[in-house]
Amino acid sequence: MKVVVTGGAGFIGSHLAAHLSKQGYDVIAVDCFHPYYSAERKERQFQTLTGGRVPLVRLDLLDGERTKRWLVEFRPDVVYHLAALPGVPYSLEEPFAYIDYDIKATVNVLAAAGEAGVSHVLFASSSSVYGDRGNVPLKEEMADGRVVSPYAAAKYGAESFCHAYAHLYGYQMTIFRYFTVYGPWGRPDMAIGTFLRRLLVGEEIVVYGKGTARDYTYIDDIVAGMAAALHRSGGRSEVFNLGAGAPVTMEQLLAELRKHFPDMNITKAERAFGYKPKVAFAEGLARTVAWAREYER
Ligand code: NAD
Repeated sequence: MKVVVTGGAGFIGSHLAAHLSKQGYDVIAVDCFHPYYSAERKERQFQTLTGGRVPLVRLDLLDGERTKRWLVEFRPDVVYHLAALPGVPYSLEEPFAYIDYDIKATVNVLAAAGEAGVSHVLFASSSSVYGDRGNVPLKEEMADGRVVSPYAAAKYGAESFCHAYAHLYGYQMTIFRYFTVYGPWGRPDMAIGTFLRRLLVGEEIVVYGKGTARDYTYIDDIVAGMAAALHRSGGRSEVFNLGAGAPVTMEQLLAELRKHFPDMNITKAERAFGYKPKVAFAEGLARTVAWAREYER
């Protein structure tokens, strides 16, 4: 069976291409090495994970004509479409780039897949399409377009195009909504990657999102789910959450990291002049209450 993985040199795409190739599929990866993060890293993760066993085509899927020509010539049975600009913060700066890379390129792939006679398209969407719901369990039917970032709006729009083109061309359509994916070669702009790079060189980490929780999902689970869905039965056009089902708070994440980097609380003041706070809050408050009883009445 011939399988195309778009965004195949990316974090999830490299893992997926490697896994499917090991399972015996005839896999080909497509990527344009978008400079969202370094091309060298993409090259390294792709080669390390696939061991050079998966061919890679350099193609920008924004070029609809070339995309169609290439897919019609290669005639795959299946297309996993992962190529996109990821990440919420950059989408606030460059919303139009997300309309291009996450919507227009997706429409090019969907149309080309139809013309090439593909039987199953599997699309990488995101839990961000649920918007800001707080800590409620998210069911697939709960996405209603009330999103809170251009990235999520683009994914939600792309999902709609997936349903439309599955209807127009009659191929099977599987939409995955991933919840924060992590693991080896994890994207360098995401929290765990950013923390690890700093901790490895003994630098302080800057923590945003205290009190928030994320459903961190390990890459192998994501890849296993995506591979298993290749043979799913049921509806022609379906949406599936791929998560871990156990949200991890920022405090839990930091506590786990501390087990591996016991020195991670070292601050600039400690490095510079040995400052180390010793009085725990309960003890400090007890001393203050004792003082108040004596002097404040
Ligand atoms: P990634 O940036 O590592 O991979 C995406 C790849 O797509 C990159 O290598 C990029 O060069 C390529 N690409 C982008 N536009 C292209 C184009 N026009 N033509 C050809 N190649 C192009 O990101 P990732 O984390 O592996 O994400 C893969 C997919 O999963 C994306 O669609 C992303 O939105 C989605 N997703 C990821 C997460 C996560 O936690 N990593 C969560 C939800 C959804």
